[in-house]
Amino acid sequence: MPHDQPIDPPFNDLTGQDRVAQFLTAVIRSGTPAHAYLFAGPLGSGKTEATRAFAQALLCEQGGGDACDTCLRVAHATHPDFHIVPPLGAAGYLAEQIQEIIASAQKAPVRAHRKVYLLTRGDLLSGHAANALLKTLEEPPTDTVFVLMARNRDAVLETLVSRCQVLPFRRIPEDEAIALVVAKTGAAPEDARIALAATGGSVFYAEQFTRSEERRNLRIATLEVLEQLVHADDASVLDSAKLLIVKMRAPLDVVKMEQQRQLEQSRDFLSAGNLSRLETQLRRELTSRERETIGEILDVSSAWIRDLMVLQMPMSSERPVNVDFLTNIKKLAEHMPLDSCVRALDAVSEARRQIQYNVSLQLALEVMLFSLRKELTDTRGPAPSE
Ligand SMILES: [Zn+2]
Repeated sequence: MPHDQPIDPPFNDLTGQDRVAQFLTAVIRSGTPAHAYLFAGPLGSGKTEATRAFAQALLCEQGGGDACDTCLRVAHATHPDFHIVPPLGAAGYLAEQIQEIIASAQKAPVRAHRKVYLLTRGDLLSGHAANALLKTLEEPPTDTVFVLMARNRDAVLETLVSRCQVLPFRRIPEDEAIALVVAKTGAAPEDARIALAATGGSVFYAEQFTRSEERRNLRIATLEVLEQLVHADDASVLDSAKLLIVKMRAPLDVVKMEQQRQLEQSRDFLSAGNLSRLETQLRRELTSRERETIGEILDVSSAWIRDLMVLQMPMSSERPVNVDFLTNIKKLAEHMPLDSCVRALDAVSEARRQIQYNVSLQLALEVMLFSLRKELTDTRGPAPSE
């Protein structure tokens, strides 16, 4: 990795990853990118941000980093030569998904002079899907760049890793992440911390969260549901799950409107085939945004439970996150044993697993809320009064 090299746009926005930014700058300056990269680093280390910036630099005539049409389309994931490919199978990529990629990689780019394929979960490539991709990586089309993302390099098949240039992303410490969100959004440090807790610690998503009133409202609705659970009967637990599903729609409606606008704009220059491909891509994007949104409900729930735990450990250097809900969290913490908190955290993880395996969102939420109520009411003393 180069040291202390200048960083060109669009990489000067890469939060806390100077070495990655320097490396990508050098790649773009060289004009000869490799055919495959593996971006490896923990959740929240800025991999998504980096892939977008890299795709902009690879596809934009001006090298990316400005507000030109190409860069905007890449940022919104609607550029016809920037393909974001999440795994469609419950256990990972399907062989036909990779076949589809390979067939499209053989074709000429639509608007730019290259194509970029982003496989968002390089760790979920195995079996036939991995074999098919391997063959392509051995003899890649010259105008194609593949980027694989993974939280952990070791979770990716070694045969794939060996054909990629590996870029390690470092874990960004919480204080640094808070400072970055504050600098980018002007939010108060406490609010930046709340945003990070609601988005699994990702600076990129925390920024978006801070700017979205709909998503901040969803957090508040989630916390209100959680703090009322202790007094809820079965019917109101079911109503709460329904309410959260309804509240989820607001941020997703924003995404849908934005997609509609992008489709309208694309009609004038995309062929029917490419337009329908874009529609498929947008539908997938919407599904993945739906999962992200429910992921936020789960992240907010975990953060709330951890707050209950932090308050029971006065010697801990940790501070509670949800300072705006602290009065009730304190009351509940007095009555909730630590092992109940641990089981409550497990219930949230279980909901995450269920959703990954395509259990309906509402059912997964219902099961989780019932489990949480059980842990909250299984107290060591009388339930706190209102
Ligand atoms: Zn541009």
